[in-house]
Amino acid sequence: MMNTIKEALRKTEERINRACERCGRRREEITLIAVTKTFPPEVIQQAYDLGLKVFGENRPQEFRDKSKILPDDIEWHFIGHLQTNKIKYVVPRARLIHSVDSMHLAEALSEFAVKKKVTVPILLEVNTSGEQTKFGFKPDEVEKAFELIAQLQGLQLKGLMTIGPFTEDQRLIRKAFVCLRQIREKLRDEWGKEKTAALSMGMSGDFEIAIEEGSTHIRLGTAIFGQRGR
Ligand SMILES: *Cc1c(COP(=O)(O)O)cnc(C)c1O
Repeated sequence: MMNTIKEALRKTEERINRACERCGRRREEITLIAVTKTFPPEVIQQAYDLGLKVFGENRPQEFRDKSKILPDDIEWHFIGHLQTNKIKYVVPRARLIHSVDSMHLAEALSEFAVKKKVTVPILLEVNTSGEQTKFGFKPDEVEKAFELIAQLQGLQLKGLMTIGPFTEDQRLIRKAFVCLRQIREKLRDEWGKEKTAALSMGMSGDFEIAIEEGSTHIRLGTAIFGQRGR
């Protein structure tokens, strides 16, 4: 397994570098988040031993259980739908919550943060494809949500996240990523760079397009670890 991960990682890095070259970006502008959902802690440990330090999980309990037993210097990102009763599993160890997809969740996170006297860094998830199965704010709701959430205590807005459409059509994928970037540009005029720095977009099937469209965080599972069992 370790050699398989090593080889996959090498190939992935090559693809990231080539995408960066194509659009004149620097590799350091992009954070690679290794998405380890469904893989056991031993696999994460192997990836860690190969030098990966940034991991993403999408289920609250799994996030809590793995982050508890794996090395302390791992940077954990939460990337899945979060129900308010599971906030406690995620907040203490999450470097960034990518998936704030409703006002209800933002308010509950704020309340939790104030109670625990912590600051919670978040991204707003935007449903750029309009697919019914996806969570997130609609593109035309984001500006208002951003304004309301910027006023909530205990939260630190860092940018936006989206999941590309479930399609092979490259033009549709690009369109979704362009949509997110354009929303960011509009927000930037009003709120400045710091709150709008991150664009979390790009998965194994579409990260090169995402990089070309300005992604700062790519979330890769399959490309590094192979197919998931469930
Ligand atoms: C599973 C998942 C990923 C990684 O998907 P791959 O296609 O395996 O790279 C990225 N982002 C989110 C939100 C996910 O749930």
